[in-house]
Amino acid sequence: MKTLLTEDQLHQGIVQLSEKIQSHYQNKSLTIVGVMIGSVVLLADLIRLLKTPLRVELVQARSYRNGARPGPLVINADLLSNNIQGRDVLLIDDIFDTGKTLWELIPQIDELNPTSIRTAVLLRKLGQCKLDLTPDFIGFDIPNEFVVGYGLDYNDLYRNLPYVATLEPSDMKDKG
Ligand code: 5GP
Ligand code: MG
Repeated sequence: MKTLLTEDQLHQGIVQLSEKIQSHYQNKSLTIVGVMIGSVVLLADLIRLLKTPLRVELVQARSYRNGARPGPLVINADLLSNNIQGRDVLLIDDIFDTGKTLWELIPQIDELNPTSIRTAVLLRKLGQCKLDLTPDFIGFDIPNEFVVGYGLDYNDLYRNLPYVATLEPSDMKDKG
């Protein structure tokens, strides 16, 4: 395992991310929708840096990964507990890779008639997205490597690492 972003770098990047979000929304009231499970660490840090009045909601997107390989995507938006009709919605995800998750999630959220939908991600893998979609707010651009930590998992492990690391083939065996 090799550290890609240290705790300090993550903190600085998330402060900058929060400033971009804050200056976009000013003091408008927001609904932040975190995509479980990977975004929960970012969500917890980010909302404490935002001064705008906000509500927090969660949806789940699971790609039934087999280790580092993605499988079919299943989205569960039934977890939304409050009406988002007429709200400004900010979707938060850990990482933007092929873009498929947000590409499929945005229309489902849109059906609930929010006033606006924007997207924020901690990481964007460069060169992976073939779709006409770019997150509105991005923490870091990273190379096309499989990363873990700060919410991101490999076989449900490593989410608790306070930094982001790339996994090497020797790390990709059954652990835990
Ligand atoms: P996309 O749908 O944009 O291809 O991928 C987004 C989702 O795939 C993320 O929310 C995350 O769950 C997963 N993912 C993509 N790349 C990585 C990676 O490098 N590491 C981990 N742990 N998950 C990833
Ligand atoms: Mg995810």
